[in-house]
Amino acid sequence: MVYLSWVLAFITGAAVGSFLNVCICRMPVGKSVIRPPSHCPDCRYRLRIFDLIPILSYLFLKGKCRYCGRRIAWQDPVVELVTGLLFVLALAKYGITFGVLRPVVLFAVIVPATVFDLRYKIIPDELNLAGLVLGVPLMFESKEALFSCVIGFLAGGALLFVIALVSRGGMGGGDIKLAAVLGLLLGWKQLLIALFLAFAAGSVAGMTMLMLKLARLKEPIPFGPYLALGSAFAILAGDKVIKWYLGFCRW
Ligand SMILES: [Zn+2]
Repeated sequence: MVYLSWVLAFITGAAVGSFLNVCICRMPVGKSVIRPPSHCPDCRYRLRIFDLIPILSYLFLKGKCRYCGRRIAWQDPVVELVTGLLFVLALAKYGITFGVLRPVVLFAVIVPATVFDLRYKIIPDELNLAGLVLGVPLMFESKEALFSCVIGFLAGGALLFVIALVSRGGMGGGDIKLAAVLGLLLGWKQLLIALFLAFAAGSVAGMTMLMLKLARLKEPIPFGPYLALGSAFAILAGDKVIKWYLGFCRW
């Protein structure tokens, strides 16, 4: 039974990932994510149901359009696979509860945010807004959650805003809004863990890239992927870290 629910969680996640791919392709050019239905951008062939099965269609079609042979971006199956796996982890951690919706919404925000930031160096307002709209009802799980999420929202936005001011443009507006939305979904305790990890991973990666001369000092590095990494860890294992820390303090 447990395995069946994991399989269902994976299928749901992969299907959500498939929709996220549509958002990733259409949002930057201001197209609707609902209409027109999925089609090949080259030959306009309208994709049928068996062209749209997450991951499997890509494998069966060997990564090419059925009609014109145009290469399908490998990002498509990767996003579907990663979202599927993250949904399984969310279910394994939270079970079938109201609380599982928090990681589910969080993953549906951070996966496209990562791709956007890496590909276009932006995190679109529409994505942050969607996270906000989906996240607000989840705050009302309990009085404690409501308090923690409001503080998280304000703290996430304010902290990154200050860093943006101090670093003079080293942090983009999209990152600030994303951090606020993540704070809302994580609550303030998990947000602190997420930010700590994001800055730690970002500094290590940034310094490595500077040493390998892959980046220049003045260039802003996309911070979205590190925020994504930190918040995924925080929502899946943050409670363990907090427990360990509190135990440590009692010593
Ligand atoms: Zn085509």
